[in-house]
Formats: sequence, structure tokens, C-alpha cells
Amino acid sequence: MLQHALPDDLRTEITDNMFRKFVTNDQDAFADELYLNEEQLKIMIDEGMHVGGHGVHHEWLNHCDSSHQESIVKGCRSFLDGIGASRQYMTFCYPYGAYNDDTKEIIVRHGFDLAMTTKVGIADLTTHDSYVLPRIDTNDLPRSGDAEIASLTRKLM
Ligand SMILES: [Zn+2]
Repeated sequence: MLQHALPDDLRTEITDNMFRKFVTNDQDAFADELYLNEEQLKIMIDEGMHVGGHGVHHEWLNHCDSSHQESIVKGCRSFLDGIGASRQYMTFCYPYGAYNDDTKEIIVRHGFDLAMTTKVGIADLTTHDSYVLPRIDTNDLPRSGDAEIASLTRKLM
């Protein structure tokens, strides 16, 4: 219900109330502590990290109409351009892995070269659709230095 079923205004009101009650009254300070800011992203880009698109407000794109998706992807692209993200390879990762045919067409038109879903796997650019690539999330990898070699790592060895 809170992901996409209720109207946007109602979801925002409910989640804001829950956040204040169970987490903190100061959402801005919490977000500043938890998330990267633009200056930190620019530093990472300057140091050679790749930064790709992920929407604007972490929307379920498959639940947005085409014109809303268009404004989201346009805003995302503008943000990436504004922080100096690489234009050589533009990538996008669908929030929640959610997309539809409109999403793919829109991100292609806005210059993204490939896009990832939340499906766990090793991408093979010779067989996978470049706009529906599987990926390996950090949560799919071992969390300690002495862990067993992950099966995904074994596949690459
Ligand atoms: Zn996300």
C-alpha cells in the first residue's frame, strides 16, 4: 500500500508520520547522515567512480504513466549531467527493478546505454537485452573478508 497502491499524497503523509514516530523528527539530518550529497558524488566521479541514474524519487516506474516517466528520466539525466557523470557510458538502474516498455524507450531516448534490473546474475552483453541486465547487488556478496567465495564469484573465475 505504501509502495505504490495508495495515492501519492496519502503515502507521503503516512510515511512522514511513521518516520517521525519511529525514527526521528529531523528527516533532513537523518538523510544528510545516510545519503551521499552532490559534492560527495562529484568527488567520487573525479576519483574515477561511475555514477548512473536511478530515477528522481525512487519511483516504481512501471506504475507511472509515460509522461511521468519521461519527466523522471529527464530529471535524472539532468542531475547526472549537472554532477559531471560520465557521458561516455550512461547507465540506469530501475528502482525496485520495475520498468515497462515505455521506460526502456524513454531511457534509450535520453541517452542511457544500458539498464539494470534487480534480477541477481552476471550480465552477458552478447545475450542479454542491454536494457534488462541482471546485476550483483552488494547484498549478494560476502560481508566479511574470511567468508567463503561467493558462487557468483566462482562463476567468473
Ligand atoms: Zn534503489
